[in-house]
Amino acid sequence: MNEAMHAVREICSTIIKKVDRPYVLESAKKRERPEKLWRLWADTGLLAIGLPEEYGGVGGKMSEVVLAHDLLHSAGLFLPLTIPNYMVRFPLLKHGTEEQKRRYLPPTATGEEFFAFAITEPDSGTNTFKIRTNAKRQPSGDYLLNGQKMYITGWDEAGHAMVVARTAPRDPNNRTEGLSLFIVDTKSKGISTTLMDIAVYMPDRNFIVNFDDVVVPAENLLGVEGRGIDALFDCLNPERLLAGGMNVGLAEHVLNRGVEYAKVRAPFDVPIGAYQSVAHPMAIAKTRIDAARLMLYSAAEKYDAGEKIALQANMVKWLTSDALTQAANIAANAHGGMFADLSTDLIPFYLQAKMSEIAPINNSIILSFIAQQGLGLPKSY
Ligand SMILES: Cc1cc2nc3c(=O)[nH]c(=O)nc-3n(C[C@H](O)[C@H](O)[C@H](O)COP(=O)(O)OP(=O)(O)OC[C@H]3O[C@@H](n4cnc5c(N)ncnc54)[C@H](O)[C@@H]3O)c2cc1C
Repeated sequence: MNEAMHAVREICSTIIKKVDRPYVLESAKKRERPEKLWRLWADTGLLAIGLPEEYGGVGGKMSEVVLAHDLLHSAGLFLPLTIPNYMVRFPLLKHGTEEQKRRYLPPTATGEEFFAFAITEPDSGTNTFKIRTNAKRQPSGDYLLNGQKMYITGWDEAGHAMVVARTAPRDPNNRTEGLSLFIVDTKSKGISTTLMDIAVYMPDRNFIVNFDDVVVPAENLLGVEGRGIDALFDCLNPERLLAGGMNVGLAEHVLNRGVEYAKVRAPFDVPIGAYQSVAHPMAIAKTRIDAARLMLYSAAEKYDAGEKIALQANMVKWLTSDALTQAANIAANAHGGMFADLSTDLIPFYLQAKMSEIAPINNSIILSFIAQQGLGLPKSY
């Protein structure tokens, strides 16, 4: 292991000594950010990894960021809002103006500002190209934003959001054209929100966000008008790796819960872990987690080496969410009726495993992508 990875391990083991799972769970139940954990991510320098020094970071690589997600989630310290925080940096670094980088990047390293990410709409769902939120350029050069997004995580906490909008009508013959990315001040006039009633144990809340003639200054366009798709693809593959780190960590944590219970629960006077019907699924889950992890770190290293990783990033997303689903299911089975008792803290993992299959992108379209890109089968979407 290199020095930087070793340093991340050290930082994570310090954090694990300072924050525990019950604290994180309590925050999640209240749908509040676990401030102590968020501050530790920031104050220990974890949030600064992967960002160049001139923008307030400490340099470093994707593999280190993935490792931090993996280790902390292995301890049950669930904090998904680090993902949009890292994710928005990629398009900003690659496509942002110098002024945008100097203004928006440093607070992502100190934890001062949280960015929301808004792409999903009620009618378009998985099909980003169908979005209807539009931004019309005004004679002043500013844009007028209208439309609706849904599920948006942490809009209430975010200072700014990266919003995907149409700047040209949809062209069925050239569907990648006409989308643009904007940095939107979440408190802008013309924005209204409705809190969604989402049944997950997440430390932040989800909103329907309406844009009604919201003025977005010209300088808040990110990259080239109409080519937002380029900036989008720059953040989607890293997002899959970060989600992968979170998924394998949570998978390991919840499987271990099942294993510990199986060592002591003995309704027939021998621990249930002695039964092959309990032990073998656990052994398979362990094997799946380790295999998913290998793929995850291999993809992260390739990303760090500048290689294209679209296929691997999608495989990582599928493998890690599958590993989490299996692990949560197996831990639940081992607990019998106690699975449904909230005191065992298994339901949050069960719900999160389902979420990991659907968001940030559903596993069906991931498989369709792998079928097409990895096997040369016809494109279905
Ligand atoms: C808790 C939570 C937080 C979220 N946070 C955010 C956020 O911060 N920002 C944001 O923009 N979005 C966010 N989302 C939205 C999330 O990314 C979407 O829910 C997800 O992309 C799927 O879109 P959809 O729900 O509209 O599903 P749909 O597009 O309606 O798809 C439904 C199902 O149909 C199948 N399907 C659809 N299309 C295909 C296809 N082409 N091939 C095969 N099968 C297909 C899949 O099984 C899929 O699960 C969040 C969602 C949740 C639940």
